[in-house]
Amino acid sequence: MKEIILAKLGEVVLKGLNRKNFEDLLIKNIRRKLHPLGAFEVRASQSTVRITPLDDDIDMDEAADKIGKVFGVVAYCRACAVEKDIEAIKQAAIEYLAPVLEDAGSFKVESKRSDKKFPYGSPEISKIVGSFIADSFPDINVDVHNPDVTVTVEIRDMAAYIHADALEGAGGLPIPSAGRAAILISGGIDSPVAAYMIAKRGVELTAVHFASPPYTSDRAEEKVRTLLQIVSDYAGRIEMYTVPFTRIQEEIKRSCPEDLFTIIMRRMMMRVSQMIAEEHECQALITGESLGQVASQTLGAIGCTDETVTMPVFRPLIGMDKKEIVAIAEKINTFETSLLPYEDCCTVFTPKHPRTKPKRDMVRRAESAVDWDEMLKEAARNAKVTVIYPEQ
Ligand code: ATP
Ligand code: MG
Repeated sequence: MKEIILAKLGEVVLKGLNRKNFEDLLIKNIRRKLHPLGAFEVRASQSTVRITPLDDDIDMDEAADKIGKVFGVVAYCRACAVEKDIEAIKQAAIEYLAPVLEDAGSFKVESKRSDKKFPYGSPEISKIVGSFIADSFPDINVDVHNPDVTVTVEIRDMAAYIHADALEGAGGLPIPSAGRAAILISGGIDSPVAAYMIAKRGVELTAVHFASPPYTSDRAEEKVRTLLQIVSDYAGRIEMYTVPFTRIQEEIKRSCPEDLFTIIMRRMMMRVSQMIAEEHECQALITGESLGQVASQTLGAIGCTDETVTMPVFRPLIGMDKKEIVAIAEKINTFETSLLPYEDCCTVFTPKHPRTKPKRDMVRRAESAVDWDEMLKEAARNAKVTVIYPEQ
């Protein structure tokens, strides 16, 4: 009896002619993720990836946890693989699933026979294995409608697999099937969630963070690195560009009306981000904005920000409430780190009464007194890169 992991493909199976490319990416990502744990064979067939450990001492708990963070997998479970023989299957079901069956009040068996040469049909397999389980565990009842545990028997090409209920996978599409985008990341709650959500759709991330020392500290930047480290557990390797933003912010303070500080700062952030994004072959900018959350996130302010760039800007959280964003931050484990109280450059020189409906010509006029171009290019050029790898 050998333990393996079965990972069910999600939307990848809908990909028609491109399916092979998506599957190959997924397999590559699974291999990379499991690499630190030892040797595995990873193979896809019939909308399932079968992951077989090749060493004896592999920690399967850890392997399963890692599979739970790979985008493109909708569900996954640990299973035991046995020869395609009904006696072996019965025995394996009661031995392998004993810990689960001992704790359950009710169960049912579901069978899938994709190897049509197997001499029993699916309903027969379920019946035989079901009776054997019922006889072996007298305290458990059969309940076909609402069982505590569903035992699944899959008769496939290489072997028979037996498992209990699958766990929910990370969903989405394998990275980098959707290309690359630049996430504007702060130390707040929202942008790490936005990073996770866009990565989930198969996007590889480049991160851009604006720092304004001495108004912002090293610890604030360190916090952003920690957040990206957590996100990279799902998103893979991330290059983070830390942009020196002090000079630009001071210039805004010096030359622009106070009620426009924030909106102009955001316009400058977008321009510098686009420069970095273009240099690194990103196809879009991503932010953690949610409609109406603060003055700079009204439709008017967002439009005014976006007119400064030609690249599409996506905001995965635009229609979400804070509560919904926090729920995801908790799920992906960024929430506690985001709460650490270090200042962000957005909170430097904040106006007392920021404009919620900035007039674009007014904003353009306010900016026109300064030649920003060189300053913005310099900031992009001097961005410091840190490469963040997922923790092993
Ligand atoms: P967050 O929780 O992500 O900080 P927020 O609700 O606090 O978001 P703002 O501070 O107005 O909102 O920032 C809006 C968005 O602008 C952020 O989600 C992020 O994408 C980007 N942003 C803010 N500060 C920075 C920064 N220092 N560097 C890079 N991007 C930033
Ligand atoms: Mg913020």
